[in-house]
Amino acid sequence: MSTQAPTTLTAAEKIMAGFAKIALVMRHEAWRSAGRRGLTPTQAQILSVLGSAREPIGLTEVASRMAISLATASEALSSLVSKGLVRKSRSEADARAIVLTLTRQGIRESSKAGEWPDSMLEAARSLPEQERAALLRGLIGMIRELQERGSIPTARMCVGCTYFRPNEYPGAPRPHHCLLIDAPIADADLRIDCAEMEPAEADLRPRLWNVFVNGTPLDHAGPGRRRSPSESRRNDPSP
Ligand code: SF4
Repeated sequence: MSTQAPTTLTAAEKIMAGFAKIALVMRHEAWRSAGRRGLTPTQAQILSVLGSAREPIGLTEVASRMAISLATASEALSSLVSKGLVRKSRSEADARAIVLTLTRQGIRESSKAGEWPDSMLEAARSLPEQERAALLRGLIGMIRELQERGSIPTARMCVGCTYFRPNEYPGAPRPHHCLLIDAPIADADLRIDCAEMEPAEADLRPRLWNVFVNGTPLDHAGPGRRRSPSESRRNDPSP
């Protein structure tokens, strides 16, 4: 018979222990993959950030998006410039500002840097679809909470986006709506880093979250326009 004491960890602590194990694999894979290409994980991540930026951004924005210090970002960027992967130039909008853009070689490296390790992807894909969607919802909730507390930089997630209309079609396989593409989306389609994301106004954000969690469509009192049943049927082809 086992003499081991039953675990006294709370569910939250067990989730943290799980994240720690996953983070270990992620760190290992990040070093392995970036190292093969002569980069550090920070340099590879900067390439990915620049590759997904809608317009040229500067050093401060890079540091803020990655939640690293200016000194760390500056050092990694200097290496990327000397490797011919990133170019510094004057901003067209403000001639006093320096912006960073990827060179042709940098664009190629950036698309590789944005790829996730196969082992991690396979592990995520091995989950049944419903569990994957539930896990994604849970992660979005945790990221949002950390954002609210100022612990991590703002993520470009659906739940904070002006185009997001949660639970427009309650009970449907794709219950939410993205106004940008004007199409219904499922939980599994929710984005955590969407290049098209436009931050919602401060008063809309908590409403979006509340509707996302509680499942009641937005009313007619704001930008969250509820669609008529015929519009919903037209937009959501699912049975
Ligand atoms: S634009 Fe992107 S972030 Fe916004 S709702 Fe659509 S998919 Fe989500």
